[in-house]
Amino acid sequence: PQPVVSVRDLKKYFPIKTGVLSRTVGHVKAVDGVTFDVFPGETFALVGESGCGKSTTGRTILRLQSATGGSVSYHGEEVFSASTTRLRQLRRELQIVFQDPYSALNPRMTVGAAIREILQVNGIARGREAHERAEEVLVRCGLQPYHAYRYPHEFSGGQRQRVVIARALALGPKFIVADEPISALDVSIQSQIINLLEDLQDEFGLTYLFISHDLSIVRHMAERVGVMYLGKLVEVGEKRDFYHEPLHPYSQALLSAIPVSEPGIRKKRIILSGDVPSPSNPPSGCSFHTRCPFAMDVCRTVEPRLRPVGTSGRSVSCHLVHPPEQYSDE
Ligand code: SF4
Ligand code: MG
Repeated sequence: PQPVVSVRDLKKYFPIKTGVLSRTVGHVKAVDGVTFDVFPGETFALVGESGCGKSTTGRTILRLQSATGGSVSYHGEEVFSASTTRLRQLRRELQIVFQDPYSALNPRMTVGAAIREILQVNGIARGREAHERAEEVLVRCGLQPYHAYRYPHEFSGGQRQRVVIARALALGPKFIVADEPISALDVSIQSQIINLLEDLQDEFGLTYLFISHDLSIVRHMAERVGVMYLGKLVEVGEKRDFYHEPLHPYSQALLSAIPVSEPGIRKKRIILSGDVPSPSNPPSGCSFHTRCPFAMDVCRTVEPRLRPVGTSGRSVSCHLVHPPEQYSDE
């Protein structure tokens, strides 16, 4: 199948400014050359420690932040060069659900009014029809019609995330970036929100980019996984490959850290030393070399590239998997 979303060599650099003149003295390469596809009806998970660039990737794809380089296409259409008018249309189909549902909602508006407003602004429905549509999506997301008359502070955290999902659903989305959608919620209600997202995916044929640091939830939710480290993808592949035979040492380390009670996961114990280096001054060569227990001399000088491995659509960037002499013919 053709991808719903294709991301090619995506870059997002933030300038580091200093002094009274705000001179730019460098850049934080939050996203540095990321390429992947998301296919119809699947959940593609982006995983990695906080600060690795997962959220910036999600926001940049939707043009909530401008990209420094690269391209994104949605059903073959360039998103970054879309006109303002076209972008407004695309925004109905390309939605985002954030970690913190409270900050995503206007505290002075009833949730019904907020959903009516978004329907009206997008030219989907107004008046009575918009109100009925608001009630309908709230009910579909596990709330009651009377909740349309309530303000955000009157809801629990889990209910507020239902409201945010309902508001996204009201616009008829096709692709949703879910950025840590449950990590601000009590553990006891996390699975309810996950179940809701899965039910909506099945019912409406939604495609998800699921951003999470929680590998247990990703294992439950995703079809494919991409692992990010310091703004780059280091491994991409089917969930089964990733959980059963992670190839990149960083993937192996992430999986080492999840609870042993997870069945069927082959684990090499890899304990990472040191902190994640600053993305404003990433290490030379393989940016993971400062923490990698298998680092070789070549890792300090030659940057590995994300390249295919095997036949299941997996790619890995590591000199252990692709010895660097393989690069010479390119
Ligand atoms: Fe470790 Fe070298 Fe592979 Fe980087 S390229 S992950 S440093 S072995
Ligand atoms: Mg799924």
